[in-house]
Amino acid sequence: MSQLLLESISKTYPRGERPAVRGVDLAVEPGELLALVGESGSGKTTLLRLIAGLETLDSGRIALAGTTLSGPGGQLPPEERGIGLVFQHHALFPHLTVEGNIAFGLAGKPKRERAGIVASLLALVGLEGFGERYPQELSGGERQRIALARALAPDPKLLLLDEPFSNLDSQWRQAIRDETRAILKQRQATAIFVTHHTVDALAVADRIAVMHRGDLLQIGGPREIYREPATAYVASLFGECNFLPLPCLAQSPDGASREAIGPPPGSAEASPGEIWYRPEDLELADPAPGLLEGKVLRTTFLGDHSLVTLLCRDGEQRFEVRVQHGAPPAEPGSIRSVRPRRR
Ligand code: ADP
Ligand code: MG
Repeated sequence: MSQLLLESISKTYPRGERPAVRGVDLAVEPGELLALVGESGSGKTTLLRLIAGLETLDSGRIALAGTTLSGPGGQLPPEERGIGLVFQHHALFPHLTVEGNIAFGLAGKPKRERAGIVASLLALVGLEGFGERYPQELSGGERQRIALARALAPDPKLLLLDEPFSNLDSQWRQAIRDETRAILKQRQATAIFVTHHTVDALAVADRIAVMHRGDLLQIGGPREIYREPATAYVASLFGECNFLPLPCLAQSPDGASREAIGPPPGSAEASPGEIWYRPEDLELADPAPGLLEGKVLRTTFLGDHSLVTLLCRDGEQRFEVRVQHGAPPAEPGSIRSVRPRRR
């Protein structure tokens, strides 16, 4: 049985022109870590607030561990849902120590049991000995770990994290994000975390759900989302992409033909779809009949590889193509061919 089940949930705010969340169906399995990804305003926070019970549904149903939380029959208050929250602006209580913060949701438990839970969570997040400190005596990364410990303390059925890594410097982000995954996995927690950093989602999530203007566009594993995006929009969101007019490059060297994917949802173009390649899927070759040819416009050195931009033409159409390239450098002005890289 799925741990969390969303059935066709929708929400339009009183002054909203369009639904913030529209007809979303989603099932999250026990112990799963799901990333909710989308650009700003796509409805990610609204979806989390609906699940947490901080907003009311217009229609649909939300169930957690077999119990309906929100639906036609009414809605359970947030504190009775068994859901832990780590919201970006949900800071630690400044007047409470680290211990006090973690124990906050354990008021009903005997003192000894509370102390035991706090100690085990401090150990879990690697901050033993920090119990007496106050939040202002912690680094950003330490605060994040304490917020996670606080949310985990009541042993929630589901954890919701809204942009948990956004306030952290990039050098910290990677470590904290990997650590967060390890902690959640160790607890076998079911969790949804929101991010607009697609790299974080690819690195941390078991599955990724992509939102756009209130719609859930695609849900799948990180590899599937990156390699088999459902639309041109999803393809571009998760990395650089070349969209090439058909039929050039539709056939790869091993004979497999590529499916074209359509333009972004809501785009005015009625284009039938284009073949897409990431720069690492293409390589440069000596000009040869049958290969797409282009003039090197520039080469950008990026350390372990370079990115070569070529101006290509196919009949009347001119378009730029970006190819990932190793040494030797491709000289600007030279004519090279582009072909799919053999995998
Ligand atoms: P995200 O978290 O993906 O950035 P949000 O869920 O915050 O997106 O917002 C989705 C849409 O709903 C946006 O168009 C936003 O302007 C709108 N919205 C969010 N909160 C409110 C609110 N309280 N009242 C009216 N509109 C809102
Ligand atoms: Mg948000």
